[in-house]
Amino acid sequence: MKRVLIVGGGTAGWLSACHLARRLGASDGGVEITLVESKDIPTIGVGEGTVPAMRQSLQYLGISETDFIRECDATFKQSIKFVDWSGSKASNGTNYYHHVFDYPEISRVNLTPYWLLGRPDSCAYADAVSIQGRVCDHGLGPKLMTDAEFSGITNYAYHLDAAKFAGLLTRHATEKLGVRHLLANVTDVVLNEQGDIHSVTTDDHGELCADLFVDCSGFRSLLLGDSLGVGFVDKKDVLFVDNALAIQVPYENEQTPIPSHTIATARGCGWVWDIGLHERRGTGYVYAEKYCSHDEAEVVFRDYLRESIGDKADELPCRRIPMQVGYREKFWEKNCVAIGLAQGFVEPLEATGLLVFDATARMLAELFPPSHEAMPAIAERFNHRVRYAWDRVIDFIKLHYYLSDRNDSDFWRDNRDVASVPESLLENLRLWREQPPSEYDFFSRQEIFGLENYLYVLYGMKFQTDVQPIQYRYMDEDSAQREFRRIEQRAERVISQLLPHRELIERIKTFGLQRI
Ligand SMILES: Cc1cc2nc3c(=O)[nH]c(=O)nc-3n(C[C@H](O)[C@H](O)[C@H](O)COP(=O)(O)OP(=O)(O)OC[C@H]3O[C@@H](n4cnc5c(N)ncnc54)[C@H](O)[C@@H]3O)c2cc1C
Repeated sequence: MKRVLIVGGGTAGWLSACHLARRLGASDGGVEITLVESKDIPTIGVGEGTVPAMRQSLQYLGISETDFIRECDATFKQSIKFVDWSGSKASNGTNYYHHVFDYPEISRVNLTPYWLLGRPDSCAYADAVSIQGRVCDHGLGPKLMTDAEFSGITNYAYHLDAAKFAGLLTRHATEKLGVRHLLANVTDVVLNEQGDIHSVTTDDHGELCADLFVDCSGFRSLLLGDSLGVGFVDKKDVLFVDNALAIQVPYENEQTPIPSHTIATARGCGWVWDIGLHERRGTGYVYAEKYCSHDEAEVVFRDYLRESIGDKADELPCRRIPMQVGYREKFWEKNCVAIGLAQGFVEPLEATGLLVFDATARMLAELFPPSHEAMPAIAERFNHRVRYAWDRVIDFIKLHYYLSDRNDSDFWRDNRDVASVPESLLENLRLWREQPPSEYDFFSRQEIFGLENYLYVLYGMKFQTDVQPIQYRYMDEDSAQREFRRIEQRAERVISQLLPHRELIERIKTFGLQRI
């Protein structure tokens, strides 16, 4: 196993190239990694939200945080702020909650049951157990200029420009990690007698052979789907949205504040993403074609933008992106592994795309077969794990829709039809009506979404867990109250120290962070 050929140069292709080259010593005479990408077929060009795992990946791959922020138009992301996902406003007139990245603060006592017993109406769950929602609401960044790269006061991820990120990964992979880069269209895939891929044929570089092929060709799934005939498992019956409209919105001026969270606002047949990069906003309306036409969706989307930029909303060009919702029956077949949109995709609600693709690229690098003979056993494990990851992602995304009590369209009503909800999710919810989720409800170390993610979404969405009958388990009320007060005081202190998000980004661009 000495040669790997990656087909596709989107973020998935370049992340895979970096992980494989880093782990397999491409620049030190290890495995030879080549990436071929079309000069004619553009990348998907969206994918601007990430989760904190991206921070570990950048650090692991040896990319400096300062360079990343300078070159990818990147900003910090500390939360997803879900707006209007509930059908009614709270008593204070607002209708939002934060899914923040900080773990609920647990020192001596698990605060969730105490919050459920006493505070749901007076304080949002995220604000009771963490300082980060308030940091976001004040428009502040997650770290101080004196914090070294990749560390901060709060846990954070990034917003980034997808095309610029692919560019940075390209330079890093080719200049520092020894990846060979070819520009050519793959026109044919040649199989050998055993059904393995022998080579791909290209227009400008002839025939390219390898021992392992990584299909990062996007929704086309040129190798795994088209050539090896691995079928697609459609999940549109669970997650209904299948189209996105995307608009890039310029800032009013250079002082416009930049939120340090993604804003996800529910609308009639889906939701709008709103991401503040340094140079512009990236926005999009994700909707289900079954429930509204493309024209109707565009009206809803431009109305959303009009609230912030007035009539300029009608002038900005809009791009429609059809989405395949689901995943391949297998992700590794014969000597071909799919990563990226070629592997599967559900929707961007929790920024799972880059998360899953980064995790699977790293898994491939770690599990890389030393010999052809070792491949079937490794492929089976890989398939099992990746399928498990996708199914758990689907459960978690569906949770957001299933818990919503919006009643303004069939889209939302149908999302509450239990026939559309995976049994694994229903089973958890039945249990969590009687006791709060615990870490024992999550089985795998590789779980994509864990306890804290569920807690923030469940209780942000006002899910009812009836803890009264088991109140006898929670006798540490004094400690809990002390903890709640400590968190409030810490929030006040931290808020007075942190910089406004835009200012922090601009200082980092000018002065840089302390490298580690
Ligand atoms: C609407 C939408 C919003 C999204 N938002 C997010 C988000 O917020 N966060 C997140 O993490 N993810 C998000 N994603 C997912 C994210 O966009 C993808 O994970 C990411 O861009 C990876 O894409 P890719 O590299 O697999 O495919 P692509 O970007 O489509 O790249 C495919 C590559 O294959 C090449 N190729 C294709 N055919 C050939 C051929 N014949 N020969 C040679 N090369 C070929 C192309 O040239 C290109 O380089 C979103 C996706 C969509 C659709």
